[in-house]
Amino acid sequence: MSAYRRVLLKLSGEVFGGGRVGLDVGVVRSIAKEIAAVVNGGTEVAIVVGGGNFFRGAELQQNGLDRSRADYMGMLGTVMNCLALQDFLEQEGVETRVQTAITMGQVAEPYIPRRAIRHLEKGRVVIFGAGAGMPYFSTDTVAAQRALEIHAQVILMGKQGVDGVYDADPNKTPDAVKFDHLTYDEFLTRGLQVADATSVSLCRDNDIDMIVFNLSEEGNIARVVAGEKIGTTVAR
Ligand code: UDP
Repeated sequence: MSAYRRVLLKLSGEVFGGGRVGLDVGVVRSIAKEIAAVVNGGTEVAIVVGGGNFFRGAELQQNGLDRSRADYMGMLGTVMNCLALQDFLEQEGVETRVQTAITMGQVAEPYIPRRAIRHLEKGRVVIFGAGAGMPYFSTDTVAAQRALEIHAQVILMGKQGVDGVYDADPNKTPDAVKFDHLTYDEFLTRGLQVADATSVSLCRDNDIDMIVFNLSEEGNIARVVAGEKIGTTVAR
């Protein structure tokens, strides 16, 4: 049973790397299996893929690279994650299309929103890569933008090893308290880091819910798609 007809799933690069640089194929394979189950259950799934397991522009800038060039490197990293996910999804028998915001015809379609919607209607998973194609943005913001443009009903923010939004970093503060629900404004005024402020303000301005949940727990994609109250809902 699904609570949603169409969802936008954001997978951070950290997930793809299993917390390290490069790809943890075991993790990508198991996430692909979970996504396949949800798609086979009739939910339309679009995915925005992060790239922090390869490069983050801001970190490269600290090592002396020009910020814009570093951000392009970051965006190209997301595409490698897209191709890995595409491969494992197709091994599960799910039809997929990768669409990138930077044109690279040999490996992906360009980002064409109406075509993406058509793919979703046909039961294909659409994987969005290369962020927005613009430096100084993040894939969280792209997740909100793509969700709005393709009329997804919710943004599902899959995180590596953290089961929602806390009032402090739970890895550093043992008595950090988890929120079940937060308004957009509470999220922003507390300066929480789990999603970036631009993405949350885009959600607020356009009234779309964002659910932050733990991808490391098996079965959680199906749970959150079924409407089970896991993680933290950031909403009105
Ligand atoms: N990036 C960018 N513009 C975008 C999306 C991403 O410049 O629209 C770059 C940016 O350098 C970022 C990197 O790509 O650090 C990887 O994306 P992100 O950090 O959002 O990935 P995640 O944190 O989800 O792994």
